[in-house]
Amino acid sequence: MHERRGGKPVWTADFGVRIHQVMNESERFRVAPGSRVKLSDVDPAFKGHHPDHAAAAAELQHYTERLRALQELLYADGRHSLLICLQAMDTGGKDGVINHVLGAMNPQGCRVAHFRRPSPEEAAHDFLWRAHRDAPARGEVVIFNRSHYEDVLVVRVHELIDKTVWMERYARINEFERNLADDGVAILKFYLHISSEEQLARFKARLEDPSKHWKISVSDYAERKFWPQYQRAYEDALSRCSTGHAPWYVIPGNHKWFRNLAIARIVVERLEAMNLKYPAPAADLAEIRREYHSAAQR
Ligand code: ATP
Ligand code: MG
Repeated sequence: MHERRGGKPVWTADFGVRIHQVMNESERFRVAPGSRVKLSDVDPAFKGHHPDHAAAAAELQHYTERLRALQELLYADGRHSLLICLQAMDTGGKDGVINHVLGAMNPQGCRVAHFRRPSPEEAAHDFLWRAHRDAPARGEVVIFNRSHYEDVLVVRVHELIDKTVWMERYARINEFERNLADDGVAILKFYLHISSEEQLARFKARLEDPSKHWKISVSDYAERKFWPQYQRAYEDALSRCSTGHAPWYVIPGNHKWFRNLAIARIVVERLEAMNLKYPAPAADLAEIRREYHSAAQR
């Protein structure tokens, strides 16, 4: 995509220039380990250098195609896996990300785990049990639709457990994720950041579209009343649990196309950094070629 002149990369195509810019853009959403997140400082309507969806379409396609190719390589390579955690307020876009971005992947080798209110069996175990149970096997991509972070979010906001219990969970989560990372699991965590006005607009759109009525729940409006408490709980989780091996990203989510693009490229960049390789063929190719030629001549 670029050529070198006088030692400096020269971007030959306009598209190449844009790719170069956006790679730096991904970094700005990453929560630096040890830093303090203030969500009100992040513009949920941010949309980078593209004015609208149409202008971003080619780039989005580029990244979704790369995503598919890299996921196949991850599967073939079979040494590593990828865990993607999605967290958001209701209507924040978890389903949209799974559908548009991660739907680009081959369903073989890709799985979604939805974290709802714990079942009696789940509640009878330690809070990380179900997360560990659904963690990806080698070669696999797993998306957590909500995640073990609910155990420092909803339980805190609704005071379902004592503060002393959820306070110690941040360290336990970091330890758990370290353990996975040490075993070859790449971890990316995305908080889809929308404004409360945008949530209301999306509630309205759901009311007006009969095909979305099934998504409406009374609890959405009940949870909305806790918006400030959730934002504080998110700020703590993002600040305490963004690490080098399992970073959090705050993704501006008011524009769905921008959200999808930002996530697609971060996932692509992470997979590219894994130095994935096709394994050596199990069969003797010279022998297979001989077999092929003799079969083709018959
Ligand atoms: P959607 O509404 O788009 O289908 P969702 O993730 O909101 O997706 P729901 O079934 O509406 O799915 O909600 C799941 C609920 O389970 C959320 O309110 C979440 O906070 C709650 N939940 C998840 N984990 C826990 C937990 N450990 N303890 C209590 N509640 C939890
Ligand atoms: Mg819901």
